[in-house]
Amino acid sequence: MAKYFGTNGIRGTFEKLNPQFALKAAQAIGIYFKRGKILVGRDHRLTSPTLHKAVLSGLESVGCEVVDLGMVSTPTAEFMVEKLHPDGLIIITASHNPPEWNALKVTDGKGVAISKERGEEIEKLIDGKVELAAWDKAGSTTDYCGATEEHIEAILKEVNVEKLKEKKLKVVLDCANAVPALIGPELFERLGCDVILLNEEIDGTFPGRPSEPREENIQKLLEIVKESEADFGVAWDGDGDRVVMADENGNFVIGDRVFALSALLKLKKHEGALVTTVATSKVVEDVASKFGQEVIYTPVGAPYLSEEAAKGKCAMAGEEVGGVIWPEVSLAKDGFLTAAKIAEALCEKPLSAWLKEFPLYYNVKGKVPCEFEKMQGKIEKLPIPEDAKKVIKVDGVRINFEDSWVIFRPSGTEPVIRVFAESTDENKAKALVEKYEKMLRL
Ligand code: MG
Repeated sequence: MAKYFGTNGIRGTFEKLNPQFALKAAQAIGIYFKRGKILVGRDHRLTSPTLHKAVLSGLESVGCEVVDLGMVSTPTAEFMVEKLHPDGLIIITASHNPPEWNALKVTDGKGVAISKERGEEIEKLIDGKVELAAWDKAGSTTDYCGATEEHIEAILKEVNVEKLKEKKLKVVLDCANAVPALIGPELFERLGCDVILLNEEIDGTFPGRPSEPREENIQKLLEIVKESEADFGVAWDGDGDRVVMADENGNFVIGDRVFALSALLKLKKHEGALVTTVATSKVVEDVASKFGQEVIYTPVGAPYLSEEAAKGKCAMAGEEVGGVIWPEVSLAKDGFLTAAKIAEALCEKPLSAWLKEFPLYYNVKGKVPCEFEKMQGKIEKLPIPEDAKKVIKVDGVRINFEDSWVIFRPSGTEPVIRVFAESTDENKAKALVEKYEKMLRL
């Protein structure tokens, strides 16, 4: 089991992920990437500058040539992998976690995020003895200042800017007091939108709202969209890879519907499978089947999505929390490109009208206490019902039925098996969770 790597990188509060550890981890990552060229980016968190210096020092000490992108959003840093062809990338950001947290997100030279499994080799290097570069072979760091501008230009090439300028959409942007403020406002200005800003001042204490864009955290955005009669609202998470929205009536648009709409827009023009995690809404299956395409399921965690997208066969990859990968641009979940693509679609009809194309699903969550060692056995023993349409066993067991589905999977952090069901009928979703909770308790 992975010791330091979680679902996406090495994550911890400042006591654990301190400069000493960051230095060791960066040395290990530098050695893992053959002491080559490494890009480094960071967010605006209060601990990020300190960890950033430790990471640069660690990489240089093992002989890496470092290209420092400075303070950038995560999708911007990942986009630069395509442009600068490094051997690896480290981003210092804790994404949607509270302010006292931070993390090192790592991708390889192709832009594929390092999963827990691949991270185990880096973990061995962290715990082992580091072989420093010789004194005259130590690496150095070059600053690279234009990453955000290049990212914006790449996004502008992906949408019809002229059409958007003509339409002049009114948009409210909630930047979470975080790095999305570096790119979101500029991007939407250049799309010709009438922009209203919320939480646009960069502040590592996240004074405006928690960095996770859950419905309860973005109430202010929903209100302002309604009051200002805007066409839509956009809220990013703390590092900008995830995005959720408000429709023109100020209704919350959850992440899996942002992904479903992105997939619909993509499949209208391109063929290919949709890649998503086993925890994502059936709405993604609905979109795929409309275009005769399949859904490829991965375990939960962004690295698995980028691994699958890197195979080059899918049209799009995405996860239920509003992270969407547009593989023609990069293997990063890109909340800015996603928002721009959806803005382009609003030239045709309002967001609520687009969302009417998808059935409404209800979801219910449950959990059953279970010792870590017994989880897998319990899950595997459960019978598969005869009316199951599809059974997916890449991370726990997901059973798809005609109009509903259920998943039971071991939690990575707590001694519980999580049970989750979704259906067009709320009672059916409840009944599914209750049924499997009962069976898992036996
Ligand atoms: Mg994030």
